[in-house]
Amino acid sequence: MANYNPRLAKINRSYLVEEIAELYEVHKNTVNNWLKEGLKDCGAGFPRLILGQELREFLENRRRKNKRPCKPGEIYCVCCRMPVSPLNNKIYLDVSESGRASISGQCPCCLNKIFRKVSLSNIENWRGDLELINTQSQKRLSKLA
Ligand SMILES: [Zn+2]
Repeated sequence: MANYNPRLAKINRSYLVEEIAELYEVHKNTVNNWLKEGLKDCGAGFPRLILGQELREFLENRRRKNKRPCKPGEIYCVCCRMPVSPLNNKIYLDVSESGRASISGQCPCCLNKIFRKVSLSNIENWRGDLELINTQSQKRLSKLA
Protein backbone atom coordinates (compact mmCIF):
# COMPACT_ATOMS: atom_id res chain seq x y z
CA MET A 1 0.00 0.00 0.00
CA ALA A 2 1.32 3.40 -0.92
CA ASN A 3 2.70 5.52 1.80
CA TYR A 4 1.56 9.14 1.54
CA ASN A 5 3.67 11.68 3.33
CA PRO A 6 1.37 13.51 5.79
CA ARG A 7 3.75 16.47 5.84
CA LEU A 8 2.95 17.38 2.27
CA ALA A 9 -0.34 18.74 3.59
CA LYS A 10 0.05 22.29 4.83
CA ILE A 11 -1.83 22.69 8.09
CA ASN A 12 -2.72 26.33 7.46
CA ARG A 13 -4.60 25.84 4.26
CA SER A 14 -7.57 23.94 2.96
CA TYR A 15 -7.82 21.75 -0.07
CA LEU A 16 -10.30 20.76 -2.70
CA VAL A 17 -10.49 17.06 -3.53
CA GLU A 18 -8.80 17.80 -6.85
CA GLU A 19 -5.97 19.65 -5.13
CA ILE A 20 -5.31 16.76 -2.79
CA ALA A 21 -5.32 14.38 -5.75
CA GLU A 22 -2.73 16.58 -7.42
CA LEU A 23 -0.64 16.97 -4.28
CA TYR A 24 -0.39 13.21 -3.76
CA GLU A 25 -0.45 12.28 -7.43
CA VAL A 26 -3.47 10.05 -6.98
CA HIS A 27 -6.82 9.84 -8.73
CA LYS A 28 -9.55 11.93 -7.15
CA ASN A 29 -11.48 8.71 -6.47
CA THR A 30 -8.67 7.82 -4.08
CA VAL A 31 -9.31 11.04 -2.18
CA ASN A 32 -13.04 10.31 -2.21
CA ASN A 33 -12.22 6.91 -0.69
CA TRP A 34 -10.23 8.66 2.02
CA LEU A 35 -13.34 10.75 2.74
CA LYS A 36 -15.32 7.51 3.08
CA GLU A 37 -12.60 6.06 5.31
CA GLY A 38 -12.97 8.95 7.72
CA LEU A 39 -11.17 11.98 6.35
CA LYS A 40 -13.33 14.93 7.44
CA ASP A 41 -14.27 17.82 5.22
CA CYS A 42 -15.45 21.21 6.45
CA GLY A 43 -19.08 20.13 6.23
CA ALA A 44 -19.98 23.13 4.11
CA GLY A 45 -21.35 21.19 1.15
CA PHE A 46 -19.88 21.11 -2.33
CA PRO A 47 -17.26 21.50 -3.52
CA ARG A 48 -15.87 19.70 -0.52
CA LEU A 49 -13.11 21.50 1.29
CA ILE A 50 -10.66 19.66 3.52
CA LEU A 51 -8.49 21.36 6.10
CA GLY A 52 -4.80 20.61 5.74
CA GLN A 53 -4.70 19.80 9.43
CA GLU A 54 -7.42 17.16 9.00
CA LEU A 55 -5.70 15.70 5.98
CA ARG A 56 -2.41 15.46 7.78
CA GLU A 57 -3.92 13.76 10.83
CA PHE A 58 -5.88 11.37 8.66
CA LEU A 59 -2.77 10.30 6.78
CA GLU A 60 -0.73 9.99 9.96
CA ASN A 61 -3.36 7.70 11.50
CA ARG A 62 -3.57 5.71 8.34
CA ARG A 63 0.18 5.26 8.24
CA ARG A 64 0.18 4.09 11.85
CA LYS A 65 -2.58 1.57 11.16
CA ASN A 66 -0.82 0.21 8.09
CA LYS A 67 2.46 -0.27 9.82
CA ARG A 68 3.20 -3.96 9.86
CA PRO A 69 5.72 -5.08 12.42
CA CYS A 70 8.10 -7.87 11.47
CA LYS A 71 7.58 -11.20 13.13
CA PRO A 72 10.60 -13.22 14.23
CA GLY A 73 12.47 -14.37 11.17
CA GLU A 74 11.08 -11.62 8.99
CA ILE A 75 12.81 -8.64 7.47
CA TYR A 76 11.03 -5.61 6.09
CA CYS A 77 11.48 -5.18 2.35
CA VAL A 78 11.42 -1.48 1.48
CA CYS A 79 10.69 -2.35 -2.12
CA CYS A 80 7.67 -4.60 -1.45
CA ARG A 81 6.69 -2.51 1.60
CA MET A 82 6.06 -5.52 3.77
CA PRO A 83 7.83 -7.95 6.06
CA VAL A 84 9.09 -11.01 4.23
CA SER A 85 10.87 -14.23 5.10
CA PRO A 86 14.28 -14.24 3.45
CA LEU A 87 14.71 -16.36 0.34
CA ASN A 88 15.68 -19.99 1.08
CA ASN A 89 15.52 -19.12 4.77
CA LYS A 90 19.07 -17.94 4.61
CA ILE A 91 20.41 -14.87 6.35
CA TYR A 92 23.87 -13.46 6.51
CA LEU A 93 25.27 -11.96 9.64
CA ASP A 94 27.72 -9.14 9.62
CA VAL A 95 29.25 -7.73 12.77
CA SER A 96 31.07 -4.44 12.63
CA GLU A 97 34.21 -3.56 14.58
CA SER A 98 32.04 -1.70 17.05
CA GLY A 99 30.04 -4.84 17.72
CA ARG A 100 26.95 -3.76 15.86
CA ALA A 101 25.31 -6.61 14.05
CA SER A 102 23.18 -6.57 10.98
CA ILE A 103 21.66 -9.40 9.06
CA SER A 104 20.84 -9.46 5.43
CA GLY A 105 19.07 -11.73 3.03
CA GLN A 106 17.22 -11.65 -0.22
CA CYS A 107 13.55 -10.78 -0.68
CA PRO A 108 11.66 -13.75 -2.16
CA CYS A 109 9.35 -11.41 -4.11
CA CYS A 110 11.56 -8.75 -5.67
CA LEU A 111 14.96 -10.40 -5.05
CA ASN A 112 16.35 -7.17 -3.66
CA LYS A 113 18.66 -7.24 -0.70
CA ILE A 114 16.89 -6.84 2.61
CA PHE A 115 18.53 -6.16 5.91
CA ARG A 116 17.99 -5.11 9.48
CA LYS A 117 20.04 -4.36 12.52
CA VAL A 118 19.90 -6.85 15.34
CA SER A 119 21.35 -7.10 18.77
CA LEU A 120 23.72 -10.02 19.12
CA SER A 121 22.21 -11.04 22.42
CA ASN A 122 18.82 -11.38 20.80
CA ILE A 123 19.71 -12.97 17.52
CA GLU A 124 19.01 -16.57 18.52
CA ASN A 125 15.50 -15.61 19.56
CA TRP A 126 14.99 -13.61 16.45
CA ARG A 127 16.15 -15.95 13.77
CA GLY A 128 13.65 -18.78 14.32
CA ASP A 129 14.21 -21.42 11.64
CA LEU A 130 16.51 -19.30 9.53
CA GLU A 131 19.89 -20.63 8.65
CA LEU A 132 22.46 -18.16 9.85
CA ILE A 133 25.50 -17.80 7.69
CA ASN A 134 28.42 -15.96 9.14
CA THR A 135 30.28 -13.94 6.65
CA GLN A 136 33.65 -12.59 7.65
CA SER A 137 32.73 -12.12 11.24
CA GLN A 138 33.30 -15.44 12.96
CA LYS A 139 36.30 -14.21 14.86
CA ARG A 140 34.68 -11.01 16.00
CA LEU A 141 31.58 -12.88 17.01
CA SER A 142 33.43 -15.38 19.17
CA LYS A 143 35.28 -12.52 20.75
CA LEU A 144 32.01 -10.89 21.68
CA ALA A 145 30.30 -14.05 22.89
ZN1 LIG B 1 10.83 -7.27 -1.92
